[in-house]
Amino acid sequence: MSSYLFQVSQLKKYQDFLNKITKGSHAIILHSEDTILQDIIAKLFVMNFECENDMVPCMYCTSCQKIMDNNALDVKVFGENKSIVVEDSNFIVQDSFVLPYEFKNKYYILKNFENATPQAQNKLLKVIEEPQSYVKFVLLVNNLDAVLSTIKSRCEIFDVPRFDTLELKNIFDFRVGDGKKVSFGAEYASGNLTKLTQIYEDDDFQDIYALCVRLLTNLKTSADVLEYSSQILKLKDKFQTFVEILILMYRDILTIQQSKPELIENKEQQNILTVLANGISSKAVINIIQELQGVKEKLKYNANISGVVDSLLLKILEIKHLCK
Ligand SMILES: [Zn+2]
Repeated sequence: MSSYLFQVSQLKKYQDFLNKITKGSHAIILHSEDTILQDIIAKLFVMNFECENDMVPCMYCTSCQKIMDNNALDVKVFGENKSIVVEDSNFIVQDSFVLPYEFKNKYYILKNFENATPQAQNKLLKVIEEPQSYVKFVLLVNNLDAVLSTIKSRCEIFDVPRFDTLELKNIFDFRVGDGKKVSFGAEYASGNLTKLTQIYEDDDFQDIYALCVRLLTNLKTSADVLEYSSQILKLKDKFQTFVEILILMYRDILTIQQSKPELIENKEQQNILTVLANGISSKAVINIIQELQGVKEKLKYNANISGVVDSLLLKILEIKHLCK
């Protein structure tokens, strides 16, 4: 974590972002799907205010160290291991009247705020609207839709910029150093450090990728549907990963068809995908991607997976046939 903090603090993009949010309101929402990055930004935000040196954040003064190690008395974190409930909100309201112990300000970092119960969110409205002068709220949100509009209207909302693939690779490499595996994962993480960490730790990821390649290569007639649907159903809770990898592969195929193969950094993948790109029309690829996006939506509503898989495979065959 501390190496991530240092590296992120060195990137101009995030320096600018931190300057912007530090000048923002006393209550901010950091919106991002990358929870590790949210955490890093929240810490750097506090450091920017509390660092004891001129070049903030220095990372080595006592204050920076305490913030980094989660030992700062005036930084209170909620919602990390369980959703924020009314009792938490009541505590925050009371506690916000107590002066800071060691810092200039007092910080409430409210993680996964979209999971806070509506009652808990409601209880915070007043204190977020009119807090003590030394209080700062940092709400970390993955999905803005689940946050009460009355909360949103009282906060300043910032979209945390994503990493690009190269930044992501460098940051992660520095830490774990298994180059090949990292570059494979970084391609599929869409700039999301949390996602890359999951991919890296998920031993099934490469197997699922291999299944996708086999499917794209061998699915030719409706007789193949049965074979592949049973293999796909074995993935169970990894089905969503499967759909996401398929979407990324079809996007890469489209990239190759548009004569930009150099955008696919990994040579091995580039070769496999080039063969596939020659066997299908761009129109079919675009239609299949749309179909897969639809499947992703359906998964949000707990659709019956076996029904979804069969109709997806048949649809892919149909599109391939129609768009020859
Ligand atoms: Zn410092």
